[in-house]
Amino acid sequence: MKIALIAHDKKKNEIIEIAKKYKDVLAEHELYATGTTGTLIMGETGLSIHRMKSGPLGGDQQIGAMLANGDINLIIFLRDPLTAQPHEPDVSALLRLCDVQSIPLATNGTSAVIMLEALKNKIYFK
Ligand code: PGA
Repeated sequence: MKIALIAHDKKKNEIIEIAKKYKDVLAEHELYATGTTGTLIMGETGLSIHRMKSGPLGGDQQIGAMLANGDINLIIFLRDPLTAQPHEPDVSALLRLCDVQSIPLATNGTSAVIMLEALKNKIYFK
């Protein structure tokens, strides 16, 4: 399965902790991430991740383009709901595409854990 990992700045520590906890599960899949998120997770976990551009520089749109082509199967996107993002239109477009294609999308840590547990227990796969 192809999984995309994205986190806004105030959520980066949380996505790193989740990636560490579920490293073995994530390692079974092909991983993609926006630039900074990917660099941090790779540095902290040693996981191999295809990195796109940083989110504000088009990384969310790159992942959106992959999704539109059927090349992303699940997204963990830890959003910061309390800080305005300069690339909010890109974020909204990506979330919308997930709904268009019925792609599983976790926008907070608790949802991400539930999804990763589903992968770990082979309850969800594609
Ligand atoms: P980043 O992008 O991983 O490059 O920080 C995330 C985002 O804000 O979309």
